[in-house]
Amino acid sequence: MMKNGEIIENQRLKGDYFKVRFYAPQICETARAGQFVHVRITPRGDRILRRPFSIYNCENDALEVVYKVVGGGTKELSELSPGNVCNLLGPLGVSFSDPLPGVIPVLVAGGYGAAATYLLTKQVSQRGIFLIGARSKSDVLLTDEYQKEKYEVRVATDDGSEGHCGFVTDLVAQLLKEKPDEKFFFYGCGPHPMLMALAKLLRANRQKGELSIDHLMCCGIGACFACVVKVKADTLPGWTFARACVDGPVFNLDSVYVE
Ligand SMILES: Cc1cc2nc3c(=O)[nH]c(=O)nc-3n(C[C@H](O)[C@H](O)[C@H](O)COP(=O)(O)OP(=O)(O)OC[C@H]3O[C@@H](n4cnc5c(N)ncnc54)[C@H](O)[C@@H]3O)c2cc1C
Repeated sequence: MMKNGEIIENQRLKGDYFKVRFYAPQICETARAGQFVHVRITPRGDRILRRPFSIYNCENDALEVVYKVVGGGTKELSELSPGNVCNLLGPLGVSFSDPLPGVIPVLVAGGYGAAATYLLTKQVSQRGIFLIGARSKSDVLLTDEYQKEKYEVRVATDDGSEGHCGFVTDLVAQLLKEKPDEKFFFYGCGPHPMLMALAKLLRANRQKGELSIDHLMCCGIGACFACVVKVKADTLPGWTFARACVDGPVFNLDSVYVE
């Protein structure tokens, strides 16, 4: 669905991270965790390509996105004010699936990946565990929001400025060691190297889960094939290519190609 979304609020969360709220009742109606919106950053509108962002939250007809300013498009977005309008295409992509009853959801995020998994706290009835890894304290996002939803929160930072000093995968390994008899379902979103390390660790421990592969993309609707990723073929032995925008961004852990 393509709709103009008026900005209700656009505020800095911390450092380079912002949260924007768009009035988008129709997109909110069907949005699910793991899906994204493809945003045409207007009103200047001289950026031809849309920018994809995970749907962080939907509340009272407002669609929320948490974003990091990394380049021209996100900088421009950060400068927009309430009343400005962006064109939104969404909800797009495959969403995360619900865990089976009795299974504990474990959300594993790297940096702004924390935005992609948050809707699971609303969608899934059982309470779970949120593990976040970041470079340093200034990149640790949304922990209060997960705590408010009664998720157990554990933090890892590369420089030890908050929580465990090390990678988020250390927290996963620790959890598996602590609770060897528990049934978990893992949801991962974050930088590519983190997802690869996570996939290796989970597979080695015969765990189940899904990963959101946030590959660079252009059209967002499966037409341009700019975002293909290598995945396990459904029927044939071996590998094939899938479009991250329409066949993903969420892929089953077992089908992800690990480098
Ligand atoms: C499905 C999906 C969900 C995403 N969700 C979020 C989110 O919730 N919050 C958030 O902050 N960002 C998210 N991203 C990344 C976001 O789309 C990019 O950061 C954004 O497009 C950068 O635009 P720019 O014009 O500011 O930067 P550009 O000037 O275009 O690029 C700046 C830097 O960002 C990298 N980059 C550009 N586009 C992407 C991209 N699509 N994916 C990864 N890296 C990119 C470039 O390699 C470059 O190093 C998501 C990406 C995908 C594919």
